Amino acid sequence: MTPFLLEDYGITVEDVRRNLPPSKLYEEAIRYDARTRIADSGALVAYSGAKTGRSPKDKRIVRRPQSEKDIWWGPVNVALEPHSFEINRERAKDYLNTRDRLYCVDGFAGWDPDHRVKVRVICTRPYHALYMHIMLIRPSRDELESFGRPDYVIYNAGQFPANRLTAGMTSQTSVDISIEDGEVVILGTEYAGEMKKAVFTIMNYLMPRRGILSMHCSATADKKTDRSSVLFGLSGTGKTTLSADPKRRLIGDDEHCWADDGIFNIEGGCYAKTIDLTPESEPEIFQALHFGAVLENVVLDEADRHVDFFDHRITENTRGAYPIELIRNVKVPAIAGHPTDVIFLTCDAFAVLPPVSKLSPAQAMYHFISGYTAKVAGTEMGITEPEATFSACFGGPFLVWHPTKYAELLAAKMRRHHTHTWLVNTGWSGGPYGVGKRMKLAMTRAIIDAIHGGGLVHTPTKPDPVFGFGVVTHCPNVPKEILWPRDAWGDESEYDSAASRLAGLFRDNFRQYEANAGPELTSAGPAMGIAT
Ligand code: ATP
Ligand code: MN
Repeated sequence: MTPFLLEDYGITVEDVRRNLPPSKLYEEAIRYDARTRIADSGALVAYSGAKTGRSPKDKRIVRRPQSEKDIWWGPVNVALEPHSFEINRERAKDYLNTRDRLYCVDGFAGWDPDHRVKVRVICTRPYHALYMHIMLIRPSRDELESFGRPDYVIYNAGQFPANRLTAGMTSQTSVDISIEDGEVVILGTEYAGEMKKAVFTIMNYLMPRRGILSMHCSATADKKTDRSSVLFGLSGTGKTTLSADPKRRLIGDDEHCWADDGIFNIEGGCYAKTIDLTPESEPEIFQALHFGAVLENVVLDEADRHVDFFDHRITENTRGAYPIELIRNVKVPAIAGHPTDVIFLTCDAFAVLPPVSKLSPAQAMYHFISGYTAKVAGTEMGITEPEATFSACFGGPFLVWHPTKYAELLAAKMRRHHTHTWLVNTGWSGGPYGVGKRMKLAMTRAIIDAIHGGGLVHTPTKPDPVFGFGVVTHCPNVPKEILWPRDAWGDESEYDSAASRLAGLFRDNFRQYEANAGPELTSAGPAMGIAT
């Protein structure tokens, strides 16, 4: 057999190992990557080094004439001049060329064959190759043979830093995406999630151009009707956790597209947070973390190779990646019918938003554009106050077009398919972080079940005096007093001031969109002051 070479890309390494199966990647990881281990469960345990999460400030898009006017330039899409991109690409290739062997993973993004994108990953660490083998859609043997030229190539030289003196660099980390060249260059970070989110960013550019909505959401399908339900939410709000649901079929946990004939998953695997994971609370995910899965940055008992999911020492953001087939109720190919329900997940650490509210179409757009959640500051920083974050379309860091492009697509599709919209708070109840408690997972699951059962649509709601949406006040298996947050707090006046503070943050954030939002959307937000 002729060896597989990457000379066309200026890669001179002669030993290129393409699409190795997981068992071989395990062997390579153990042989060449000193810190890699095999956990007692059979998962491959690897470490990403200094970076244990994404580096959003270091993501850059190459500014070129063809796509320049399409892009929402600013802190999310930092412009990189073509010359600096070429320097970074050269630097990445120079680094790759110093290696004795490289790994190449070819796969697809998007389960719908009409819209799938061919992606090639070139990397140095076996664990990165296994990760992308998991996260991309795995081609069949025939598809691999006829793969041809990929649409996008990711050069992962994450072990090697960017040169701070290169124009446009602000640190040693840079994740550069060139839409026209079909290339991604990674320098200075070995966090595996950068690769999957680079693919998502590319899809967020390509799909809306075809009238397809790309979405930062998980998705499940009804076992009988095949109609889907999508759960939007920022990091840590519960997309992955709540989509692992034995009563439904899993379509995917993080990235989907809504096309004319239904929805499809972009990925071949899931990437779950594993901090404090237990087999009791998240059985589907726990049982998926066996042979063929990657565990990233978890702490392992050196003696018996048992993973301690409660150990936060390396990072709060410990992760497990597993092929989607390892979830028992998965639907493959991961394609389903139009959504009956769109659910916005928010982790409100201020305990203001109700566990579940029904949104009108205008309120749905308002909350989609706002993309509210709260970040709970890490205890290691000594900060106890949670911080509100607003991230457009519940996926700000991955948007490429202006948020209104995605919002308009969502509005049109929801109208056409009579989709209901819900706002679900998976965060705090009874008082803010430090006083109240996080909503019990079992309770949130009961709410999601009630939405999927179709019953909640017909339950009467009570308008929220500050935010205006319809609060669901009766839901099976959820205590009534929790459903109306003002009752769940010990002190009503404290609740009122917390609510008006949060409403103020919503209004401040929305100001940036007011100019082109129109009156309907502007009035769909929280009212001024509290009605008494
Ligand atoms: P990312 O975009 O980073 O992948 P995500 O939205 O998929 O984030 P999850 O991985 O589902 O987030 O993380 C939610 C975390 O919160 C899990 O660790 C879960 O156990 C925990 N959790 C606690 N209470 C709840 C709740 N009521 N609802 C959902 N998740 C909860
Ligand atoms: Mn997730």
